This record gives sequence, C-alpha cells and structure tokens, in this order.
Amino acid sequence: MALIVQKYGGTSMGSVERIEHVARKVASWHGQGHQVVVVVSAMSGETDRLLKLAKSIDPRGSQREFDQIAATGEQVTIGLLALALGKVGVSARSYTGWQVPIRTDGSHMKARIQEIDAERLRSDCEAGIVPVVAGFQGICDDNSVTTLGRGGSDTTGVALAAALKADECQIYTDVDGVYTTDPRVEPKARRLDHITFEEMLELASLGSKVLQIRSVEFAGKYKVPLRVLSTFVDGPGTLITLEDNKMEEPLISGIAFNRDEAQITMSGVPDRPGIAAAILGPVGEANIEVDMIVQNVGGDGATDFTFTVHRNDYERTLEVMSRLGAELGAKGVASATDIVKVSLVGVGMRSHAGIASKMFKALAAAGINIRMISTSEIKISVVIEEMYLELAVRTLHKAFGLETAPAA
Ligand code: ASP
Ligand code: MG
Repeated sequence: MALIVQKYGGTSMGSVERIEHVARKVASWHGQGHQVVVVVSAMSGETDRLLKLAKSIDPRGSQREFDQIAATGEQVTIGLLALALGKVGVSARSYTGWQVPIRTDGSHMKARIQEIDAERLRSDCEAGIVPVVAGFQGICDDNSVTTLGRGGSDTTGVALAAALKADECQIYTDVDGVYTTDPRVEPKARRLDHITFEEMLELASLGSKVLQIRSVEFAGKYKVPLRVLSTFVDGPGTLITLEDNKMEEPLISGIAFNRDEAQITMSGVPDRPGIAAAILGPVGEANIEVDMIVQNVGGDGATDFTFTVHRNDYERTLEVMSRLGAELGAKGVASATDIVKVSLVGVGMRSHAGIASKMFKALAAAGINIRMISTSEIKISVVIEEMYLELAVRTLHKAFGLETAPAA
C-alpha cells in the first residue's frame, strides 16, 4: 500500500459538483487501501477575486493583509472537500497551513517553505483519516499567514510529499499530462508517459505551463516522483522522475516555444576587451533580464552584438541601447519583436551527436531562416520569424518522430 499526496487545482475545485467528483476519486484511492493526503487550491477565479477586492481598497497596501485575504480561498475548499468526503463515507479532516503547521519565511506573497511538521498528518493517515490541506499558504515566525506565490499549491503538494516521504505526488489538473508540444499548434502532439525533472523544467520555463516551475525544482531536489494527470479523464498521466540511466531515453521529449521575446542588435561596435560588459552591464542595472546572447567579430575589427529580452522590457532596453550606441560609437541599433524562440528538449541529446544538424536541415527544408542559435546540454533553441512558428514546430515534431510513441 502506498502513501500518496494528491493535489487538486482550482478547476477541479470549481463547483460543488466538481468537489463531490474529487471526493469520489479520493474515496476510490482510499478504498484500495492507500494512505492519501490531499492538497487543494481555491475555487478557480477565487484568488483573483480576493486579491482584486484587497487592491480595490489600497493597491499598495500591506502585503501581510493581502496574504491574510488571499489565503481564505483555500480555507473554503478544504472544508468543502472534507464535508464531501464525509458524505461518501471517508473520514477526513481539513487543515489550513498554520494548523499543520507549514512554516515559511516572512516574504509575503512569495514565501518559501522552511519546515513542515508532518506528525499530525501521519497519525491521521495511520488512523484511516484523510487529511485535506490548504495549498498555497503557510505561517511565518511572527505567526502571520503567508502565501507562496500564484500557483503555489503545486509546491505545497510536493513539499508535503517530501516531508511525508510519500511514494508519489499526483497533481490533478484539467489536462491529462505533459505533451510533446502545445496541441493547439500541433494537433498531433502526444502525451508523454514519462519525462525527467530537467526536461520538465525546460518545457515549463519555455511556456508549457502545466506546473508551477518551483514545484518541479522542489520535486527534483527531494526526488519526489511527480505525476500530472486529469481530474476529469481517467488515465496514467505523465510521470516526472529522475533520469534513469538503465532506460534508453528518447532522443527528444518535446518542443517548447516562447513568443515573449524581442531581439536587439548593436552593430559595428569597436571590438575590444570589455565591450560585452559595457553593453550588458547597463541592461542588467536597469533590471532587465537577458536570455540569448550572440556576438561575432567581422573582418573590419568591429563586432555585432545581438541579444534577446522579454517583450515587456523591449522599449526600456531600446532606450538603454540607443544611449549606449552613441557612447560606444556603434554603427547602429536594430531590433525586432516579431520573433519567437523554438526549442528542442531531450536528455537523450547528451549522448547523441547530430541532433543540431538534423534540426537545422529540417528547418532549412521548410524554408525557415534561423536568426540566432543557442544550445545547452539538453536543449537547442533557435530564434526565427514569428510567422513561421507553427510551421517550425510541426516540421520539427515530424522530423524527430514525436507523433509516434517510442518502441517499448
Ligand atoms: N489559489 C492560488 C492561485 O490561484 C494557488 C493555486 O491555485 O495554486 O494562485
Ligand atoms: Mg495551478
């Protein structure tokens, strides 16, 4: 018999009917003899509503009070689910963050979990009781309620699973797993049976927003097997685990893309030591995060310097660059916002050569021009024109055989 932590998101808690549906699911796991600890989100839209209410009084008001207000959403759903479990014959007991307690630091609205006392939950489990714990919240040293940042219930689920040394942390949501790419772009996208933490981090940070990134980092650190699955459709979902060296990993697990980037090029800068720092220093000082960077030296002793930033930072970056361009004696500053980054992700590429050239050949055959390239151990990213996004994703999805399941 296993100890399982199940986390149900806002959509799964969206109405009384849905909460009763979740209760039946929990009851069925419990009925099979498993020990189950449940973590829930607020009803979908509720946290937004509560924060809006708070901000309507004072948008710059005390973050301690924002947390006090936002945390109530989950207090409602734990009670409702515990009631629904009782109704289907399962003894359940609800807990807010402070009742567990889940101790955090004092950074309101983005608190980090420091310590969980899992004793009470453990003894409930042993007594056949299902504890239902409020996600997203905790308590800090001065006994104020804290919240973990939006989407934080995923992290609560993983943290509880780590504290309880659970066999698995199941994240129930409205999709039935992690896909090879966004099915809205490539309808032939396929659900992955398993994926590694590292791959999931790359896919998540690049836009496949199934899980809060922090929860995946947490799960990787504490080696908590994580499973993403649907509340509404039965199925095995996607298991996220450590890389298993005994297993032959598929070469490529997925294709991520990001429409949020903008590209900036400073051309004809004198090529001398310190030029990269002279350009990127002021960008960093303006609190602008740089993603990809490419620099190359032409024959004339001048260099072109290209990098990407988030589109929200585009205008500010351009201001900094225009000022710097004059100071540094650059020939010009060019920029583009109609670009996207497309990335191939897979731990299998660590041990295989030739993935990059296969990727570039496939894109060339489709007539897609590559503007920038960057690589890491498990990822190759290219920047292309935005109008080619769909074509690029579909071309690569096909070229790397992602439509068909890898042979068992
Ligand atoms: N209810 C919180 C939010 O909407 C936490 C969560 O759902 O994970 O961000
Ligand atoms: Mg969520």
